[in-house]
Amino acid sequence: MTENESDKVGAQYNYSFEYIQKKLEGKKDSFGMLMKEIIRTGICTECGTCAAVCPVLEWDYLSGQPKLIGKCTGCGICYNQCPRTITDPIQLMGEFKSGFVANTNIPEVIGAQDGGTVVSLLYYLFEEHLIDAAIVTMKDPKKPWHPVPQIITSKEDAIKSAGSIYSHSQTVEALMEAIRQDFRSIAFVGTPCNIDAVDKMFHSPTGMLKYFMRCHVLKIGLFCMDSFAPEALYPFFEKDGIDLTKITKMDINKGKFHLYQENQEEPIKSYTIKQLDKFKSSSCNFCTDLTAEKADISVGSVGSGANKNTVFARTGMGTEIMEDAAKKGYLKIEPFNAINVNAVLFLAKLKKVSQYTVQKRKVFIVRDIAEKEEARIETKQEAEQTSVKPILGTRKALSVSKSLNEKEKTLTLLITNTIGFVLEDIKIRVATVEDLFESRPWITSIRELFPYESLEISYPLEVKEGQVILGNVLVEASTKIHGKIFSRTFKLAPKE
Ligand SMILES: Cc1cc2nc3c(=O)[nH]c(=O)nc-3n(C[C@H](O)[C@H](O)[C@H](O)COP(=O)(O)OP(=O)(O)OC[C@H]3O[C@@H](n4cnc5c(N)ncnc54)[C@H](O)[C@@H]3O)c2cc1C
Ligand code: SF4
Ligand code: SF4
Ligand code: SF4
Repeated sequence: MTENESDKVGAQYNYSFEYIQKKLEGKKDSFGMLMKEIIRTGICTECGTCAAVCPVLEWDYLSGQPKLIGKCTGCGICYNQCPRTITDPIQLMGEFKSGFVANTNIPEVIGAQDGGTVVSLLYYLFEEHLIDAAIVTMKDPKKPWHPVPQIITSKEDAIKSAGSIYSHSQTVEALMEAIRQDFRSIAFVGTPCNIDAVDKMFHSPTGMLKYFMRCHVLKIGLFCMDSFAPEALYPFFEKDGIDLTKITKMDINKGKFHLYQENQEEPIKSYTIKQLDKFKSSSCNFCTDLTAEKADISVGSVGSGANKNTVFARTGMGTEIMEDAAKKGYLKIEPFNAINVNAVLFLAKLKKVSQYTVQKRKVFIVRDIAEKEEARIETKQEAEQTSVKPILGTRKALSVSKSLNEKEKTLTLLITNTIGFVLEDIKIRVATVEDLFESRPWITSIRELFPYESLEISYPLEVKEGQVILGNVLVEASTKIHGKIFSRTFKLAPKE
């Protein structure tokens, strides 16, 4: 290449880089995100694209990772080229023909879950004789807040179905029953997983409803981030003094789960979703569809503010129904805009990338006190002999981070496999150290720790006269094959 040609290529590269930087302005994607979501989770294919596109990144052959060699501007170009990140709107929300912000225009429907769009659509479909039946989920009259899938045949019953129950509902059972009862035109309301089931039954080569031409099913999907196991969540609420029979509404909004009583504007109790994480249905950890991508019409709340719904009409039929319901005065609709879409994209992305960390077992509590093991004195020479040897070039096999829980008098250690293969039979030894003396040694073994998997270990701290003693804690890890792979003394200090 001549000097002139190479200048031209350089100018073209700079132009593209700057142009895309401008396009990505305001987004939070960055090299840090690439590290967190793709590299540290073991999703990276080592294709080197990120390093190829950025002047301050180079490929580190020793660690098998991109490495920063200059100042990162956080422009997000590397993140947006990576084949493993999920960045395109269609990948995040599925395809749709029109987007709306909607809410009911029917006085009896006001006070539904959000904007009352779902109930209003059902009301319209019954009133206009477009459906014979609908499948909805109602509360079990015998067991408070347990979902019961139901076949309904009137707009009055549609109104009674208003509100979200944050648990799995066996809606397809009711759909099959409606088909057996010979209903021909059915509206089906369900979470994205429910919608997927119906879609598969219609479209898969071995689907049960594929050749069933006697009925049409209109799929109305609800946005869904997660659902909870009632048998675990409700006893927790009850233990916390909540009478479920008095709760009239449950709502998840901006990372919080709120419980409301009749005629009260403010929730009587709110929990962070993190607090309730352990009651989440395990299937939801494997779910990547926020917006019911296979529905005819998808309805959610995120992106549209209080008492309104975000609606995607995905099929021709879905779009016509939304527009006709608005034209005939059942619904109020406005076009969806860029501000609404950003909120949906953000949540959809959270859900799509959560699959990367699915394999992490979150809590693992050490209970094997190594009673037989004597407190030992490690001489300086010994310490040198057993110092950590890198097992693969410069690659570190484990990382350990600590957090102090003075209330529970424990030290939590988060142990992460930072190497790209399974570590087997890891022996973890934790002890309190003062000068060269050790006391309170604890030992546990981990049979296998997958690449980038993390486990939490709780080490009980020494307590004297009700006070936690904060000293130094030594954490060591070894495997039979690699010998010692981690050794570090953590100095504990009270939280500021
Ligand atoms: C488990 C779950 C999780 C959700 N998570 C989110 C979220 O993260 N972000 C978001 O924007 N929206 C979420 N939604 C949707 C949201 O709660 C509302 O359902 C949606 O905004 C429609 O509001 P609306 O006012 O039109 O509902 P309404 O007009 O009150 O109608 C609600 C309809 O939902 C049906 N329904 C209630 N519970 C269930 C259930 N468990 N399974 C199937 N159908 C049910 C009822 O039968 C009724 O027909 C979730 C819904 C559920 C059920
Ligand atoms: S400057 Fe380079 S490393 Fe930093 S975000 Fe942009 S492309 Fe990625
Ligand atoms: S572009 Fe993505 S997959 Fe390719 S090396 Fe970089 S982080 Fe890994
Ligand atoms: S998160 Fe997914 S699996 Fe869980 S209830 Fe919602 S759609 Fe179903």
